[in-house]
Amino acid sequence: MKRSAFNAEQFLDAFTRAEAVGCEFHIEVPALGGQKSVALSPQQLVRLIADKQSVYAEVMGLTVPEYNEWRQLQGSVCCSAATAHGRQCRNTIPGASWLEPEAWKAARSAGGYCQVHGGGTRLVGKGAM
Ligand SMILES: [Zn+2]
Repeated sequence: MKRSAFNAEQFLDAFTRAEAVGCEFHIEVPALGGQKSVALSPQQLVRLIADKQSVYAEVMGLTVPEYNEWRQLQGSVCCSAATAHGRQCRNTIPGASWLEPEAWKAARSAGGYCQVHGGGTRLVGKGAM
């Protein structure tokens, strides 16, 4: 017997009914230093089954590429300068690390430079290169 296809409509109906009688849906989203518990709507829960990355990004207020970058850099922001090879410098901006999504996005659009490229006017924590 073939496995029946995922029927999003049926799941949405079931989750909506469950919510109506008092169920709450929470997931653990991979975030800085571990996980963050987030409440989901029935619609998000259905989407989670098909495409969890997009839901993770959405609940953190980021696009999928932003979410992946934010996770990969652990809330740090890369230097705005280009290296001699024309790539973006991968050093981080002093002080711009371990930022939650909103602050991270703001720091990322503001840009800045690593110590090598003239940044570092702010007090820096350990491990700056
Ligand atoms: Zn740099």
